[in-house]
Amino acid sequence: MKLLENKTALITGASRGIGEAIAVKFAEQGANIAFTYLSSEERAKALEERLSAMGVRAKGYKSDAGDYKAAETLAADVIKDFGTIDICVNNAGISKDNLLLRLTPEQWDDVMQANLKSIYNLTKQVIKPMMKARAGSIINLSSIVGVKGNGGQSAYAASKAGIIGFTKSIAQEIGSRNIRCNAIAPGFIETDMTHYLKDGGAEKWFEKIPLGRFGKPEEVADAALFLACDMSRYVTGQVLSVCGGMSM
Ligand code: NAP
Repeated sequence: MKLLENKTALITGASRGIGEAIAVKFAEQGANIAFTYLSSEERAKALEERLSAMGVRAKGYKSDAGDYKAAETLAADVIKDFGTIDICVNNAGISKDNLLLRLTPEQWDDVMQANLKSIYNLTKQVIKPMMKARAGSIINLSSIVGVKGNGGQSAYAASKAGIIGFTKSIAQEIGSRNIRCNAIAPGFIETDMTHYLKDGGAEKWFEKIPLGRFGKPEEVADAALFLACDMSRYVTGQVLSVCGGMSM
């Protein structure tokens, strides 16, 4: 028996990077996958085909995570297509880095909308079917930067710290319904979001990471799998760092 057999997972921002790795990992464990993207139409189509070839049901939805109405429509569409939402991974996110003196109100708002409001938007929708089922697992992608801060990333760090407060609060609100809510705080993971770190000379970053390297999307996906499945059935309101030891 696979770990996520007969479960349906909704994963935001799975056309690339960590979200894509989570979608593949969950499908390997038997989950049906509903996922979203914003602009990567072709990559989303390719992922839909890749997941379907693994023998699970898969469908990509173009849906802006920062838009409340779009989240309502998305959840209704997924319920119509899949019948249930057992696992929700709020993964979609962006970074717009700037020193505070140069950070524009538009950049601040964009980051908050995509990273933090998005979590409110979709969590509010998915807890309805989960409450009915008296079961569910919600996983929110925070960041080590939300725990420690990082100069030049005040908007991003604030949005990711907000996710931690939201996660812990929701865990308390819905624990009695057997719905769990946890966060993952990745360190530097090799995706499009962090490609600029490599250009800047990776070695100088490795010195700050006890395990001496960047992480891989699949390593974050392993943590997501743990939080999604019954192996973590007594774990809620937690922040699991996947950062090569950077948070020490
Ligand atoms: P990525 O490679 O840049 O991919 C971002 C994904 O999110 C893409 O699928 C993108 O869709 C989607 N997306 C962005 N804005 C969206 C929106 N408004 N609505 C729907 N989808 C949207 O990022 P990543 O590195 O995989 O990061 C995934 C999550 O992990 C993010 O929340 C990020 O903050 C967090 N994280 C990443 C790292 C890291 O080192 N990479 C570290 C800590 C935390 P399109 O392809 O259509 O644009």
